[in-house]
Amino acid sequence: MVRATHTLPPISSLPQGPGVYLFYGVGDALVYVGKSKGIRGRVRTHFRERSERWMMRRVRRVETRETAGELGALLLESKLIKELKPMFNVAQKQRRRIVIAERKTMPGGYVAVHLKAVDAIDPSKSGGILGVFKHTTQAKEFMTEIARRHRLCLKLLGLERPRTACFAYHLGACNGACIGEEPADRHNDRLEDAFRERRIIAWPYRSGIIVEEASPTGRSEMFLIDNWVLVGSLTRNGGKNAEPFLPGSHRFDYDTYKLLYTFMEKKDEGRSIREVGVDEWNSYVKLATGDARTEKRIQTAPPKGESWRAGMTPRKK
Ligand SMILES: [Zn+2]
Repeated sequence: MVRATHTLPPISSLPQGPGVYLFYGVGDALVYVGKSKGIRGRVRTHFRERSERWMMRRVRRVETRETAGELGALLLESKLIKELKPMFNVAQKQRRRIVIAERKTMPGGYVAVHLKAVDAIDPSKSGGILGVFKHTTQAKEFMTEIARRHRLCLKLLGLERPRTACFAYHLGACNGACIGEEPADRHNDRLEDAFRERRIIAWPYRSGIIVEEASPTGRSEMFLIDNWVLVGSLTRNGGKNAEPFLPGSHRFDYDTYKLLYTFMEKKDEGRSIREVGVDEWNSYVKLATGDARTEKRIQTAPPKGESWRAGMTPRKK
């Protein structure tokens, strides 16, 4: 068997800056897509990592796509994985569906939890969601834990279906919402509190924002983001006019939300995030989507009882 590295270009020919790399195997089948702030260094570690030998033995060709910065690399990687479904990324991440915990009001005004597997979340309805999970097992583990810590009712959490009192009540570990002993309002409030960390964080800006990244080589990218949704993006190489880069999506998806949220929480590093007015927003959207119609803002009500996170700009009342 020919060793993979024989047919590969030397790693030193790969770009050093941020971007995405694609590993192709026999028959030019796409094996893996990854991203990094430094493509060359990251690809080198793939080849050195013992645990990845099994994958890297298959690699015959490396393709790279440079971006201006980290966010561009993250979003491009996410898009390519979704579109091209490289075999090792798919194996790594079998599930794309997520599980949401919804509120369901029961007789007597008690809020019960209902789990539902979904492909995507409508951002305008995220206020009705108590929490988001990768899968049902994770949701049940979380709820078992909060039941214990907060003395919540197993019946209302949906972890048990007893006809009367839940098992925890018999053990003295539930305050008795299952049999009407604890008032609905009290249990509802404690349930909301317990789910706080699992909630989708309300969009912390008054408007859409523009994130700009620039590389030392003169490439720059601009991302139009509103309510955790990538609406469009533009790229400019040297002095040339801006042209559309990654297409936007008009629905909330959990991967992008997590990616944007994590990115924006990090303090740093020479990137710029700014809120823009409606006119400027619309003119960029027009450029990015090549579309003359102006974009309506995606509206989201802040989730009930949500507080703003440190490091993010609070929406002005
Ligand atoms: Zn109970």
